[in-house]
Amino acid sequence: MEPVQSTLRKWMQENKHFKENYTKVKQEVLSDPEIKDFIAKHPQLTQLEMEKSLIKLYEYKTQSKQCDHCSSFGGCINMIQGYSPILHVENNEIRLSYEKCHNRIAYEKQIEQQNLIQSLYMPREILDATIDDIDNDVERVRAIRELIYFVEQAKSDLPKKGIYFHGPFGVGKTYFLGALANKLKEYHISSTLIYMPEFVREMKASMKDDSINEKIELFKKADVLMLDDIGAEMQSAWFRDEILGSILQYRMMEKLPVFFTSNYDLDQLESQLAATRSGVETVKAGRIIERIKQVSKSVEIIGENRRE
Ligand code: ADP
Ligand code: MG
Repeated sequence: MEPVQSTLRKWMQENKHFKENYTKVKQEVLSDPEIKDFIAKHPQLTQLEMEKSLIKLYEYKTQSKQCDHCSSFGGCINMIQGYSPILHVENNEIRLSYEKCHNRIAYEKQIEQQNLIQSLYMPREILDATIDDIDNDVERVRAIRELIYFVEQAKSDLPKKGIYFHGPFGVGKTYFLGALANKLKEYHISSTLIYMPEFVREMKASMKDDSINEKIELFKKADVLMLDDIGAEMQSAWFRDEILGSILQYRMMEKLPVFFTSNYDLDQLESQLAATRSGVETVKAGRIIERIKQVSKSVEIIGENRRE
């Protein structure tokens, strides 16, 4: 008999603790200002329902609501990281569900925005450039105005023409592209930036595998394509006609904007593109220039060399 009695005694003791605990928790929960408020808003809730849902109410009470007890997304104290509890009533029963919290939404937005810029071979300082940091000097006023005009239009509808920025070395042409790509992120517009000399090398290297078509597709379909330093690449008739030509042709038909930077104006670029190992091909070069004019508007940038 002894073991049974002692087990029973133990159980009763624990049960007493349980009861005490239960009463304590219940009091704590029901005196929580947010829960009081919730109950006041739902007078149809019965005493029984509240008893039944005590565990849910307790869970609600202990969780951080919309980050009110968390320092950051990483410092989330909730059971489900980045989710905030909400109480509601359905068919006279208390329900507890979770929604994304402010910090989680901001974090997801940040990741999504980071993915909006695809860049190949672009320096970090260019990828960090912002329009607000562009010095508004007289020499670059037109270029800045054109950039801002593009952004304004892009807010409602992506313009079909980008800009062909040309001018001397070091005036900030590439910087403009980085600043624009960062601004467009804010409107969920993706940009693909590539440095032309590397573009040619990359395409030649992928000729051997199947990735070339995939890459061409990426450049054809990007919301905004940015080709940095056109004319500085090794001239190849194959790249000019098969790769660049076909990308520009596609974008022209689909009315998708392209941005360029170059040390050459369009006439100079035409001569540059004409001179390949196959001889001087003015007709083919002229065809590329025509497409560039269809997908962009030529704007000169002058000013001091900022690299000195
Ligand atoms: P470009 O492409 O015309 O040769 P870059 O855009 O590379 O010139 O600019 C040259 C240097 O000047 C870079 O180091 C760039 O970060 C800096 N730069 C250009 N424009 C600005 C600006 N508005 N504010 C600060 N730095 C700039
Ligand atoms: Mg440059």
